[in-house]
Amino acid sequence: MSGRRTYLDYNATAPLRPAARDAVVCALDLLGNPSSVHNEGRAVRRLVEDAREQVAALAGVKPSEVVFTSGATEANNAVVRGGWDAIVVAGIEHDAVLAPARAGGARLVEVGADSAGRADVHAIADAVLCDPEVRGRVLVSLQMANNETGVIQPVAEVGAFCRAHGICLHTDAVQAGGRIQIDLEALGADFLSLSSHKIGGPMGVGAVIVRDGVNLPAALLGGGQERRRRSGTENVAGIAGFGAAAEAALADLDSATRISSLRDRLEDGVRAMTPQAVVIGEAADRLGNTSLIALPGHAAETLVIKFDLAGLAVSAGSACSSGKVGASHVLDVMGLAPDVARGAIRISLGWASSEADIDTFLTAWRMVADADRRAVA
Ligand code: PLP
Repeated sequence: MSGRRTYLDYNATAPLRPAARDAVVCALDLLGNPSSVHNEGRAVRRLVEDAREQVAALAGVKPSEVVFTSGATEANNAVVRGGWDAIVVAGIEHDAVLAPARAGGARLVEVGADSAGRADVHAIADAVLCDPEVRGRVLVSLQMANNETGVIQPVAEVGAFCRAHGICLHTDAVQAGGRIQIDLEALGADFLSLSSHKIGGPMGVGAVIVRDGVNLPAALLGGGQERRRRSGTENVAGIAGFGAAAEAALADLDSATRISSLRDRLEDGVRAMTPQAVVIGEAADRLGNTSLIALPGHAAETLVIKFDLAGLAVSAGSACSSGKVGASHVLDVMGLAPDVARGAIRISLGWASSEADIDTFLTAWRMVADADRRAVA
């Protein structure tokens, strides 16, 4: 690939942070299995335990509550497939929650969302209190922030309700990690999922947080690693990189206003050039890094290709598995008009985003807007 590229797709994956890269490289140079009792093993174990502390700090939990996994998909699956009798989820959840919930034998209730992208809290309460089939071991799963719209979900409200009724709550905090403060206790959650690559760590590593004293069947059986919760020799280099990224992301929480000012400038510029553009979810509390903008009359896939040719990486809808393009179930649940939903592109910023990135995006947007004007002239 030649020429300067502008990367604005952090919700799909974030660029590797320098500290995470260094940690991965250092870990790769160490010899030893973290389960071995000899000197080499203990040195590697120390890396894993340091990373556990770093990830725990990001999630506002104790290190003993962190279980390393191969990513958030595994973390979500481990919780959702935890032998529940009934599961209540928001229809706007990521597929890594929806697919295992739909595949399992539990009674499943999927609740809707309003047009701003907020999950229907009353429907969650109704399902838990009034649905006669929602009984026994019940799990509620509500993400902290949506990967497409960036809309922050009312997890603490649902958490207070779940605690009051003795129900377990899981929150997929993949998009919230490093963008807003996470505090498991304040959220009232029992389980929380994180992914390394969304916060500037390496891919293929994540964590499920299991609150002390809460029972969750082991995700994998074998050698009994991760306190018997997830067997398998640890991905030490990945975990070390995840830990370093978590520490950097936590320190970077202070720069959230820098990122949200960039995002606001981008949206102001778009509105000035194309007043017909729709900023999806703007009526709700959103992550400061995410902008989902629809240009009615355009297909998102075509816009993504135009931007790509102009040197910019953005995505259409929820395309976080490569090449995945299709109708967004999130926008569908929100009840967006098909013409608006079809033209929605997601721009997401992060730790390395700059004013120059916004300038480049707005220049490319102007090209699209000018072409539209010429077409109707
Ligand atoms: N949950 C959400 C909200 C996501 O955005 C993603 C990203 O793809 C995942 C889960 C899956 O994470 P991972 O890529 O670590 O499996």
